[in-house]
Parts: sequence; structure tokens; C-alpha cells
Amino acid sequence: MTYVANCSFGMFKRSVNALSPPMPLRLGGMPVEEYFSRASLKADGTPAIGMRALPSYAQSAAMPEGAPGDLLWLNSSLSRIASNDVSLGRANNIGVVFADYFAPRPTLFGLMFDLGFTPDGQANLPNQFDALPREGCAIFLSAIARLRTAETFAQEVLFTVVHELGHVFNLWHDSGTPPTFMTTSRRDAPFGVPAYWFRPEHETYLSQCETLRFVYPGGSRWGERGDFGPREGSPFDLPKHASLKLKIGISEKEFWPFDPVELDFTLRHDTQDRKTLTLPDVLDPGYPQFVLWITGPDGSRRRYRAPVQYCCNHATLTISAGKPFRRDIPIFGQSGGYTFRDAGRHEICATLIAPDGRLVQSNKIDVYVKPGRLRSSEYQKAFGALRNVHIARALFYKSTTSPLRIERALKDTVKYASNKSVRSTVQYSVAVAFLRTLKLGTRVHRERRSRWVRDLLQAALDSGNLGSHRERRARQHFDAMS
Ligand SMILES: [Zn+2]
Repeated sequence: MTYVANCSFGMFKRSVNALSPPMPLRLGGMPVEEYFSRASLKADGTPAIGMRALPSYAQSAAMPEGAPGDLLWLNSSLSRIASNDVSLGRANNIGVVFADYFAPRPTLFGLMFDLGFTPDGQANLPNQFDALPREGCAIFLSAIARLRTAETFAQEVLFTVVHELGHVFNLWHDSGTPPTFMTTSRRDAPFGVPAYWFRPEHETYLSQCETLRFVYPGGSRWGERGDFGPREGSPFDLPKHASLKLKIGISEKEFWPFDPVELDFTLRHDTQDRKTLTLPDVLDPGYPQFVLWITGPDGSRRRYRAPVQYCCNHATLTISAGKPFRRDIPIFGQSGGYTFRDAGRHEICATLIAPDGRLVQSNKIDVYVKPGRLRSSEYQKAFGALRNVHIARALFYKSTTSPLRIERALKDTVKYASNKSVRSTVQYSVAVAFLRTLKLGTRVHRERRSRWVRDLLQAALDSGNLGSHRERRARQHFDAMS
């Protein structure tokens, strides 16, 4: 039985100025979905994948004008156009969301959605994007237009559609020559017709789509392929990089699983000379080069799972001896739910594979995940306040699709936060989430939210508990609002 999926294409925003995807969706004279039937032939010559492209744009993908093109909003848009029956354990509908650009990384060409983040144990949510992995992808038209000519724009968009759909079927990147659909796009020009093929090992993998959950959309999580594809390698045996140093720190050493804990990291170029170093901007667990490792109380080591797989971002970051790169990640949540599920001591470290293939390994930090105390009212109140789905998503995504509900719940969350530092993180994260949605809603709502942003940032800054990185960011946001 051929796996038949409806592939819906939708526009994230329908603003007058937005670019449109090239229609019809044909590459090299063939509909894009046809590449998957041809690449998934079984021994009997019939295809394992039969994708049906829905020709009209699903209006339901459209988001309100002013909605930010960030992960939370894009994932909500995907859930709406795919609208799968999540109880089936596989995705009969695949969504391709065409958006202008990805707000946090404006140069990104495309991404593939794994399980999203929702606090555990929340049944019957309207947007269940934590229920099925690999339901679809997003393509960023303005980011592509910026690096392509009018003639090559369509070619790159369509190539990226096939590439991201390949990830939806859990295909891995191809670094061999000649290039294929699963090769990461180049900066200078799109690949031509000779790259419109899948390598034989990818074809064999796709031909198992009918039965293998590692292949069909909605089956296993991204990167989990059993014995059927390459294993996710361990970088620890690679030779060490001489001058790049990665340092990690954490906002809380002891916390409950639902506390919004942030992991800070700093990448330094430890050298005597004044030279700057330019690196691909891949310091995010959504990139395969960067991994966070968590060793649990039982000694087993696992990867932190990002809710997204990023592709082809030509952005770079520049560091020099006196100018390190800093950022933070909300490590309490990951693809599928909370990161820490067992109480006890955990060890965290990060690895980065530098462009020359050498390993940059961070320091290790020890954290303690506190056991639940069901008889304690302090615990009960923090538990109830921080696991509110709208609050928890805002803390994780630094964005919100439901600002009014957050306004209602925030007072209790701030009041019942487990400690002062958690309270400051809540204030800071919700302020950033509101900042991103300042263009949404009526004028009254927008003005009220602006006041919330200023008050929350002020309170977080006054607390002195934010840590240097978030304090600097909070100050920048606050100054920009004044
Ligand atoms: Zn890719």
C-alpha cells in the first residue's frame, strides 16, 4: 500500500508586498511531489510514496497581519494547514508553509519542524504541534530572493521545497559529490538540473515509507533512524580545536523541571593576535554541528532535542580575542516537552564542530533537578502557575499566540514563581514574547502590551537576578522602548 500524503502548500502571510512562490510548483519540468514517487520505487516497481499536492493555497495557513514569523507562529500555522488526526501516529497530511523570512534568523532558506514544545500532560490543546514529529516544513522566500536573481529565484525555492520535504521523510544531509537534493544549497547560485536526484541510499530509505516509522512523516523523531540510516555520531573523539573555547553557564543550579532555566554560552577565540575569526552561525541545537549533551542520574548520556531542524543559513558570526559571541537557550524545554524528567543530579556539556572539522568542547556543569513535593503548597502553586500552557510556551519560544491569556495568568505566575531568579526570568521572557507581538490586536491592546513590556523589563532589571547576558539584552530592549 503506497503511503499517500496530501501535501498542502500555504502562505504564512498574505500581505500585499509579500513575495509569492513560483506557480506551478514544477522543477526541471516535473511537479515537485513527483520526485518522491520516482525516488521511492519498491522491488516490484511501484512507488512507496504517493504525494498529492493540493493545488490551491490553503487560506487557513494565513496568519494575522503583524504576526511575527518565528517558530511558535510558523508551527501554529503548520498545525492548521496539516490538521492531522494525531491519534493515527502518522501524518496523512504534510504542510509546506511559505513565509517571508524567519524572524530570528532572517537569512535562513528553510526549516523542518520536529515535535514542538508543550508542557507535559496538557490534553486537547487546539494546536497540537507536540503530537506528531516531521509534519512539514517552512520555506523563506525573501531570504532566498536576497541571494538569488529573478531568474534563479524560482529554481532555488523549488529545490528548497524538495530538500525540506526530504527532511520530512527523515532524510539526512548529503555531503558527497556530485550534489543531490539533500545537499545544502550554496551561497552563490542554485544547483542546476544535475543535482535533481536522490542518492541510492536515500532512495532505499524512502522505499521503506509504507511501514517504517523512521521514514513516514509523523513517525519517529527527526534523526532517529534505527539501523536503517546513519547513526547520529559522537563527536568526542574528534581532534580538539586549538583556539576556540566554549563556556557554558546556567541561570539556576537547582530547579524543578518546569522552572524556566536558561543555558548561557560564550564562544571565545583564545589567541594572542588581533585576528578576527568568521564562523557559520550554527550555535543552536537546531544545527547538527552544535549539540547539548545531558547525562542523567543513571549515568546515561543523551542529546538535547531541538524542536526544529535548520537548513542552509549563510549568516556568519565574527569573534576576536576581546569580542566573544554570547547567547542563551531555554534548556528546560525541548522537542516534545520538558527536558528533565527525572529528579537528581544531571551533567550538561556542549559540543561544536568547527568548520575545519575539529571539536570545541565546553566545560561541564552539574545541576540538580528537584523532586516534586506534592504535599507542599509552594510546590503546588509554582507547578500550577508555570505549567500554564500559554505561559510555558511564552517562556520557551519567547513569543506568544495568546497574549490576552498571558496577561490574565501572569500575575499568579510572577507571584508563585519558585524563587527570585525564576521570577526575573519569567518577567524577562514574557516581556520579549510581548515585544514580538506588539503589532497584533487592537490599538488598546497594543498600547497596554507596550506598558507591560516596559514594566516587566524594569522589574527584571531591578531584580539584579538576570545574569549578564539577559541583563544586557533587557537593557537594549528597554532603551528601544523608551
Ligand atoms: Zn537540510
